[in-house]
This record gives sequence, structure tokens and C-alpha cells, in this order.
Amino acid sequence: MIPVLLHLIAFLQEYLDVYGEEIYIDPKKLKGIKFAPSVKQETSPIASEKPPSSAKKVETGQEEKPDTELWNFMRQIQDCTKCPLGFTRTKFVFGEGSETADIMFIGEAPGGEEDRTGIPFVGRAGQLLNKLLTGIHVRREDVFIANILKCRPPNNRDPQVSEVQECIPYLHKQIELIRPKVIVALGRIAAQNLLNNTSSLKQMRERLWQYQGVNMIVTYHPAAILRNMGLLNTAMQDFKFIFNTYQQVIIQKT
Ligand code: URA
Repeated sequence: MIPVLLHLIAFLQEYLDVYGEEIYIDPKKLKGIKFAPSVKQETSPIASEKPPSSAKKVETGQEEKPDTELWNFMRQIQDCTKCPLGFTRTKFVFGEGSETADIMFIGEAPGGEEDRTGIPFVGRAGQLLNKLLTGIHVRREDVFIANILKCRPPNNRDPQVSEVQECIPYLHKQIELIRPKVIVALGRIAAQNLLNNTSSLKQMRERLWQYQGVNMIVTYHPAAILRNMGLLNTAMQDFKFIFNTYQQVIIQKT
């Protein structure tokens, strides 16, 4: 078969794995096109504003976190006002997921939806993260998702050095308690803050780093993929790399 056709088939197969039969259409490319009344643009899985069902479950169950070291740590720090963001936040976003997770995702800071609900990655970026997880057959509830900052910076601006300095010890404690086998930094800002460098995302992707004694992989922030869906395919490759690395760590330890 013609190589380009093989590539196309492989791409469509992966696309179907992540999105099912729903087709994402970049809204920018649709400008000026008139649709027949029966065509609904909001059928795109990543265009929906509805939070994922798992997010809702946790929201109502937030007070019901078990009496364990990790969740007791959350109770200890959730009223933090060490930096000014503690006075402007709606909710402290500690993180969510399994306290024995093998894979831990670390984003930058809560956005508007996260600030409102207290749950990380529940907006559109979170929905795409869920789909990327589904693509490697990993359930959101089996990983742990956290951010470098636990409180939302005004207007979603980048975290400031002083805020990171105050907040990052909380993340270190979370890593110590969860003891993941693989950490995934989501996006350039998260990765630069963790690795304490100014490298580009291109320089940081597709290799293994060590963070707090744990293997770390850097990939795109889902929000960046939403802004440029051309990155989706490479992001899916990154997620395969994450899963393969996790499997290798497991094999080495058994
Ligand atoms: N972006 C992040 O970096 N973290 C979130 O929790 C949501 C969006």
C-alpha cells in the first residue's frame, strides 16, 4: 500500500482510539462555512463545557476523603495563605486521584473551573487529558493529578517565582506520600518550574528526566493541544512513551 495511505490509516486508528467516532473540527477552520441545520458543531468531545462525570463524583465527595496520610496532609494545608493567591482563590486545589497512583500528572496551576470546583483539570483541557488517558487505557481515577500551584493565579497568568517557592514543598510532600513510578509534567511552564531551567518544550520532550528520584516525562499541556490540534498526534505518541516507561519500571521492579 502507498506509504502515505498507511500513515493516514494509522493516524485515523489512533484518533478513533482517543476520540471514538466523534470528529474534532477546528472551529477556526469552519469560519465562514454555512452548515445545514442538522449539523451540530458542539458534538466535538473537546468542545463541550460539561465537566467529566468523574469530576462531579469527587466534587460532592470531597469531605469524604479517607483518614489517610495523603488526605490528612490536604486537611493540614488547605487553608494556606503563604502567598497572596491564598486570599484570592475560591477553592484550594490539592489534587485528586489514587493515593497509590503509579503515574502522577503535574500541571501548572488551577484555572477558572478548577478554582470553582477545587478539582484539577476539569475544564476543556481536563477533558482532553481524560481522553489522552483513555487512549493508553488508563483510568483517570488510577492516576494522581496535581499542579505546581494549588491556587489560581489571577487571569490565569504564569506562576510567579515566589509563589512556586512557597507552594512546591506541598508537591514534594505529595510525591513522597504517593511515591509514583512516573511523573508527567504537563506543559513548558510546569516542566521549567520542576526542572528549574528555561529550556523549550521541544528540548524537554521525548526523554527521561529525574525529579525527586522519580522518572519524569515532559509533554504538551492539553490546553496547548486545544489551541493547535496539529499537536494531537505527537501528544498521543508522548502518552505511549509514558505508558511504555511505566511498564518498563514495573518490569524492572518485579
Ligand atoms: N491547567 C493546569 O495547569 N492545571 C489545571 O488544573 C487546569 C488547567
